[in-house]
Amino acid sequence: MKVHEYQAKALLREFGVAVPKGDVADTPAQAKEIAQRLGGRTVVKAQVHAGGRGKGGGIKLADDPAGAEAAAKQILGMMLKTPQTPPEGIKVRTVLVEEASAIDRELYLSMTLDRGRSTHVVMASQAGGMDIEDVAAKTPEKIVREWTHPAIGLTDFQARRLAFGLGLAGDQFRQGVALIKALFALYLAKDCSLAEINPLVVTKDGRVFALDAKLDFDDNALFRHKELVELRDVHEEAPLDVEASKYGLNYIKLDGNVGCMVNGAGLAMATMDIVKIAGGEPANFLDVGGGASPEQIENAFRIISSDPSVKAIFINVFGGILRVDRLAEGIIAAVRKLGLTLPVVLRAEGTNVELGKKMLAESGLALTMADDMGDGARKAVAFAKGQK
Ligand code: GDP
Ligand code: MN
Repeated sequence: MKVHEYQAKALLREFGVAVPKGDVADTPAQAKEIAQRLGGRTVVKAQVHAGGRGKGGGIKLADDPAGAEAAAKQILGMMLKTPQTPPEGIKVRTVLVEEASAIDRELYLSMTLDRGRSTHVVMASQAGGMDIEDVAAKTPEKIVREWTHPAIGLTDFQARRLAFGLGLAGDQFRQGVALIKALFALYLAKDCSLAEINPLVVTKDGRVFALDAKLDFDDNALFRHKELVELRDVHEEAPLDVEASKYGLNYIKLDGNVGCMVNGAGLAMATMDIVKIAGGEPANFLDVGGGASPEQIENAFRIISSDPSVKAIFINVFGGILRVDRLAEGIIAAVRKLGLTLPVVLRAEGTNVELGKKMLAESGLALTMADDMGDGARKAVAFAKGQK
C-alpha cells in the first residue's frame, strides 16, 4: 500500500525524522491560510501517489500567501502527468503547503528488502534529487549500501558509514546519523516495503532533513496496522483493483488480453506462464482463493469482463476445497446475470469434475471445454487473437 507524501511525513515526524513544517489543503484559500501561518516563502506540492512531480508542474515555490494561493489554484484539480503516472495523469485533490527550504545539497536515502540477500538494505547517495535508477545504472559507485542483520538491525557503525557516504561532517553528520536510525526504526515498526527520501537535503543554514518522503507498506502486514489502513486513498488505485480488494480477491491487472480466472496463487502463476507459452498475454493475475463461493466466482467474472482489453476468458481451476460443481454453479449464474458475450474456455480437474462438466454442458452456455491446461491456454489465446 502506498500513502501520500504528507501522510508519510506525519509518520516521519512521529519517529523523530526531521521534516519541514507544513500542512495540507484542498482549497486555494486553505493554502493561503497555511502559508500565512508558516510565514515567509512556501512550497506548494501536489499530493499524488507518483514521483517526478517537480518536472510535471506539480511543485511550485511561492513568495507570499497570495502566491501560495495562486499556486494551489493551478495545481488543485489538474491532471498531473509524470513518468510514474498513467498517460492521462492523476487528478490532484490535495496539496501540501510547506515552508520553503534554502537548499545547499540534495542527497538520497532509502531502505528496502533485498530479496537476494534475504535482509534489509539501506542505500545512500550524494546524487540526490535525480532519478536514482539512472544513478544506479550509470554510476553505481555513487551509491553506498549497508545490509542489516535480521536480528541485530541497523547498527550505529553502519549508520555512521552511511552518513560518511553522504559526505556529511560535524553537526550535519550527527543529524544525518540520527535521521538514518530514526527512519530505519520507522521502516521496521510499520512493516514498510520501501522508505525513500529523495531528496534528503542539507540547507544553507546547516540543517539536515527529509524534503520528500515516500513510504510503501507490505500489504500482508497491514492486518496489524489499523492506523495505516486508514491512510489508504482509493482514488489513487486502479478502480478494478479496488473493486477486487472489496471481495478479498487477489487481482492484479496486466497488459494482455486473455482474462484468467484461477483458484490458488501457484496455479494462477502457472496459468500466466502457459498462456505466454501458447503465444498470448494474460490480462490479469487472479486468484479467487481455494475456498471461493459461487458469489466470489461471480464477482471475479464481473471484474475480469469489465476490463475492456479482455478478449477471451480462460478459467483454470482445480477443485479441492472449491468443488467443481460449485464452481459450475457460480459460472452459470455469473454468465447469465452479466450477459457475457466473451468466449470462455474452461479447464477443470478435481472433486466432482464430472458433475460440474455435466451441469455446464446442460446449461446451454457457449463454453469451450479444454482437455488440459496446455489445450485450454491454446484455445483461449486463439480466441483472444480472433483466430477462432
Ligand atoms: P518529486 O519530484 O515528486 O520527487 O518531488 P520532490 O519533493 O522530491 O521535489 C522535487 C524537487 O523540487 C526537489 O528535488 C527540489 O529540487 C525542489 N524543491 C522541493 N521543495 C523545495 C523547497 O522547499 N525549496 C527549493 N529550493 N526547492 C524545492
Ligand atoms: Mn522526490
